Amino acid sequence: MSTFRTHPDPSQWDDYVDFESKSWPKKDRRHYWIIPSICFNCESACGILAYVDKDTLEVRKIEGNPVHPGSRGRTCAKGVVTPNQLEDPDRVLYPLKRVGARGAGEWKRVTWDEALDDLGGRIRRAIQEGRRRELMYHVGRPGEDGYVNRVLQAWGIDGHNSHTNVCSSSARLGHFLWTGADRPSPDYANAKTILLLSSHLESGHYFNPHAQRIIEGKSRGARLIVIDPRLSNTSAKADLWLPANPGTEAALILAIARYLVTSGRYNRTFVKTWVNWEAYLEACHPDLPRTFESFEAALANEYEQFTPEYAESETGVPAAQILEAAEAVAAAGTAFATHSWRAAAAGHLWGWQITRCLYLLVVLMGAVGEPGGVNLHVTNKFVPKHPNPPPPPDYWNDLLFPKEYPLAFFEMSFLLPHFLKEGRGRLDTYFTRVYNPLWTNPDGFSWMEVLKDESKIGMHVALTPIWSETAWFADYVLPMGLGTERHDTMSQETHAGRWLGFRQPVTRVAMEKKGQKVAHTYDANPGDVWEEAEFWVALSWRIDPDGSLGIRKYFESPYRPGEQITMDDYYGWIFEHSVPGLPDAAKKEGLTPLQYMRRYGVFKVDDIAYSKAHEQTLAAEALSGTRVSDSSGLIEKDGTPVGVMTDGLPRVGFNTPSRKLEFYSPTLAAWGWPEHAIPRYAPGHVYWRTLDRAANEFDLLPNFRLPTLIHTRSPVKWLYEISHNNPLWMATTDAAKLGVEAGDLVKVRTGIGAFVTRAWVTEGIRPGVVGMSHHLGRWRMNEDQGGARTASSLVKITGHGDGRYEMRQVHGARPFASDDPDSGRVWWSEVGVHQNITFPVQPDPVSGMHCWHQRVKVEKAGPDDHYGDIMVDTNESHRLYKEWMAMTRPAPGPDGTRRPMWFDRPLRPVPGAYKFE
Ligand code: SF4
Repeated sequence: MSTFRTHPDPSQWDDYVDFESKSWPKKDRRHYWIIPSICFNCESACGILAYVDKDTLEVRKIEGNPVHPGSRGRTCAKGVVTPNQLEDPDRVLYPLKRVGARGAGEWKRVTWDEALDDLGGRIRRAIQEGRRRELMYHVGRPGEDGYVNRVLQAWGIDGHNSHTNVCSSSARLGHFLWTGADRPSPDYANAKTILLLSSHLESGHYFNPHAQRIIEGKSRGARLIVIDPRLSNTSAKADLWLPANPGTEAALILAIARYLVTSGRYNRTFVKTWVNWEAYLEACHPDLPRTFESFEAALANEYEQFTPEYAESETGVPAAQILEAAEAVAAAGTAFATHSWRAAAAGHLWGWQITRCLYLLVVLMGAVGEPGGVNLHVTNKFVPKHPNPPPPPDYWNDLLFPKEYPLAFFEMSFLLPHFLKEGRGRLDTYFTRVYNPLWTNPDGFSWMEVLKDESKIGMHVALTPIWSETAWFADYVLPMGLGTERHDTMSQETHAGRWLGFRQPVTRVAMEKKGQKVAHTYDANPGDVWEEAEFWVALSWRIDPDGSLGIRKYFESPYRPGEQITMDDYYGWIFEHSVPGLPDAAKKEGLTPLQYMRRYGVFKVDDIAYSKAHEQTLAAEALSGTRVSDSSGLIEKDGTPVGVMTDGLPRVGFNTPSRKLEFYSPTLAAWGWPEHAIPRYAPGHVYWRTLDRAANEFDLLPNFRLPTLIHTRSPVKWLYEISHNNPLWMATTDAAKLGVEAGDLVKVRTGIGAFVTRAWVTEGIRPGVVGMSHHLGRWRMNEDQGGARTASSLVKITGHGDGRYEMRQVHGARPFASDDPDSGRVWWSEVGVHQNITFPVQPDPVSGMHCWHQRVKVEKAGPDDHYGDIMVDTNESHRLYKEWMAMTRPAPGPDGTRRPMWFDRPLRPVPGAYKFE
């Protein structure tokens, strides 16, 4: 009996035979190499298999890699469209240099040698002249672990900038303050109750790996509770959907916490052992006896206000449903899994407090590191060591972490235009890497202004696989590879286990299987498309050709001293030296570790699913030279906490200053935020009670996306055929009041301007809230260049010279002639409206996260309004920037530093750089 198989067995991957689909019904057979790689279309790092035609070397198909422990053979729609991206008729295939004014859209093709010489010379001069502060790398989609940081360290620059403060900083900070790790790793598959504040089944952090495990958990009987004002795909799958008023989620969560505490249905032993309750009593209730019973009483008192009825009055969710959710959490015991990533945490002022409140539930249940509970990401993500690590940079870059934001969890990236306008610095060479700040970030016209200004940014280099609104304002557009065109290593905390994935340029691998020598990945990729990993090596050699700057040595082969390192050298070294178990597994198959990874694309490091790393006892060696504090049991070595005494044993504990879970944050108290020292409910900046509903004020929820959208790399035919429009979700009652029907044009006025879009009238959103997906509305300024014609509208931008801009769509998507016959079949025209460009920056004063929700006024569009119209005033955006900046409480901290020493940075400089000068 034959059995149905979803994937060819790895034994078939060297010669897989399939029928040629295009010659049906004739049965032509074609031969393929099946070469694994890692998807590049979000950070989940799912395993993919590329079917490479042995004759033509074309990638004919992508599907999931069945041996990948995280994605287990599955991809989402975004993974399988990789061939669309490879064949996109509008992709950038050759290095381009601008010839006219920046942003004027005139380009000439250059060779990689020309670009490398120019950039290498420029960066060398900046380093030699002591201008390292003027070099900056700004990443959107990282898709790798540690490679670029190593490059920047080798150059000696504190120049790593990221997109994280428009993405997940608040969620990370909330988690970090509790645990010292910036995100959880929920074990959904084994949970009894799952509580989500992110739309994980459509766009959560680890979308496909998490989504499949949430459904697995549900199929085993888990109860799914979702807090979201919008009926997302995740809400639609929930047993209990709680559409709380946006920004009030913490009130609902604290009502659950109160229920657990007052009913005594919490894990008393865990809390007593692992929470820093003594520090809380000392700081907040010095008059109470230092007993756990005092803490329990004080805890009940802290949250006394959060009755179900009070939570109902704040959130709009019926008290009975809140009690039902509380009961489900209580019943889960330690099998309680939860996650908050973007959504509420990213939407609101004090959003990081929402995550802290959520994690309070995890702590109360003692669900840390338990089956069906929540691991720490550091337990489940595996990052190997890279060869020959350079030292950290020896200075502090204020353009990244200014004094106003000592606790910002990531770089204050989206404020860069305002910092440059204020003269806080200038950039000599600015790399944007798979990043489109002009379109993705709020306040895009301010980005356009500084990108055009050569006195502020001397040279802008866009490393990108496709055209973008930002790349249009570059000096060089350098084409970089997609998921089957580049080398990277990646790992994520997808579940209770650890693995390492290997992305590789599959055509290059196929050419080498054919016996062809390939010197550079761009020799195998379409056109002159390269990959960053090789590019940075080549550029570093141009910066330091003779090694006199001390940079070149980091880019020499560990196997052939003095020669340029190759990708085989680099990744071969990692796989040989820093992936436990891989050399042995490879040897068993008669392969080198590199050959093993090229063959399978992934290695399962271990199944240390529930390590409870905090409970590990410190070995005698680690204990030598330590001292133990009598009062707290903290174990310190040379002033650094290394563990904590619990139950008479020296344990590793958590990565916090107290080595315990910090319910009370001494850091927040000491750095100027004592009122936020414990998890608390603080309504967001668009609090529903303050909306002037009579004047048609609404809360705009702009930070969700559809499951078929890939940040800025969505514009390909299959994805846009599925979803190409982002209308404004509006509740039926609200639409009736405004006299708006589905499809009508509406005008949405924000703090700095307005946009015009269509209404979608639905019961799937809370009245008083309007919602709009943030991954549509791409535009270009030239008919034939600058954006995917399948997916962008041609626009005309009028600048009035006084900070006011207007954008009008000339036309939307149209069919067009190209090598791809499908481009003549484009049937859609409206491709969305760019809402983000009309938003002011709204940096949370603690986490630094952009608070995405907007207070808006909605009206029926007038006769002069057209679909896609945009109006913005950048002077107003700078004024609002200053208003938000005024809320900060700047460094130095109590010890004279810029930032608490225990707060990491994506690229951490030397300890001395933390000192305030
Ligand atoms: S979830 Fe992300 S990594 Fe996985 S297939 Fe989809 S886009 Fe690719």
